[in-house]
Amino acid sequence: MSAFRTLDQADVKDKRVLVRVDLNVPMENGRVSDATRIDRVLPTICEIADKGGKVVLLAHFGRPKDGPDAENSLKSVAAVLSQHLKRPVAFAPDCIGSVASDAVDALKPGDIVLLENTRFHKGEEKNDPTFVAELAKLGDIYVNDAFSAAHRAHASTEGLAHLMPAYAGRTMQAEVEAISKALENPQRPVAAIVGGAKVSSKLDLLENLVKKVDFLIIGGGMANTFLAAQGKHVGKSLCEKDLLDTARRILEAAKTAGCEIVLPGDGALAKEFKAHAPMRIGDVDHVADDEMILDIGPRSIADVERALKSARTLVWNGPFGAFELQPFDAGTNAVAKMAASLTDAGKLLSVAGGGDTVSALNQAGVSDQFTYISTAGGAFLEWMEGKSLPGVEAIRA
Ligand code: AMP
Repeated sequence: MSAFRTLDQADVKDKRVLVRVDLNVPMENGRVSDATRIDRVLPTICEIADKGGKVVLLAHFGRPKDGPDAENSLKSVAAVLSQHLKRPVAFAPDCIGSVASDAVDALKPGDIVLLENTRFHKGEEKNDPTFVAELAKLGDIYVNDAFSAAHRAHASTEGLAHLMPAYAGRTMQAEVEAISKALENPQRPVAAIVGGAKVSSKLDLLENLVKKVDFLIIGGGMANTFLAAQGKHVGKSLCEKDLLDTARRILEAAKTAGCEIVLPGDGALAKEFKAHAPMRIGDVDHVADDEMILDIGPRSIADVERALKSARTLVWNGPFGAFELQPFDAGTNAVAKMAASLTDAGKLLSVAGGGDTVSALNQAGVSDQFTYISTAGGAFLEWMEGKSLPGVEAIRA
């Protein structure tokens, strides 16, 4: 993997610096409900401003369909960003044209402006050269700090890097360095945990991982499809019957590659999918017709522990059970704590990512103890699938 230029190489003083950030934060009733993404971009913004650069922030928000709409405006995010930065953040209600250039021209070194949602223009997602050129007029150099949008070849995430000197921001740098240590050049043995609802949404991921890791630990609803593929009766558990052959093919590929698959041997079995539903711990060989496997059981947790103890590196995406519903968060919590304490002891490098995984690890109270937690959903998954990310490739030196 070739290296990319970072802020260490960028001379930002008095320059207009176009900084692509991810401000696509969740909102509830018009308020930002989780500011994690805002906090992640603060170091890059402060560093450029403190070095005397004029910070011009580009970001998308939501999925606007037909041009500008109030619901997808970044205006209220600018105010929250300003609170978190403890510095003023100007806002321009368009990201190109005279509205944007007037706002940029008004900047003094160290000032910050956020331009309106790039996706209000169709050229953004089409990576249209005319739109890219309009954006490029607003800056002298380009810094991409939005790893989580790097799986998209859009104008502000990829196109700009070809028109101007391009650098990785600090969050992008940290993210790429962490994930490279975990899968591109890892200390072996490597264990991967893949959980979550369905095999169908993580097929490419599973197929790539069996070729790369030493242990593939499968949990969540998707484990049921693998159990069914092995001829087990999984009752009314979530199971994709049309993917049994696919699951068998993945098991075969793992055998050929020397990858050990770890599947649950026991589970928390319940008749209803709801919090505090009556449940029993039972063997996955004896699931009744009206029961569902909603979490892994103690024997399976011990199997995962054995794999993690012999691994040096862990990558994790997806929970072991229906972790939003107590007590079906027990398996995920137990494994999360185990991985955290192995990391603390210096025995494991642990990288986790994806929306539900981040919530599950937060819920288990161990996020701070992992080596790295990626807030990037799609980009993290595509990286785990072995795909190259256009936004990262474009800033390589
Ligand atoms: P994903 O978005 O694919 O990572 O899936 C996460 C979702 O999978 C969560 O909402 C969990 O509730 C769900 N899930 C995990 N294990 C199970 C299970 N055994 N049965 C049903 N849903 C599950």
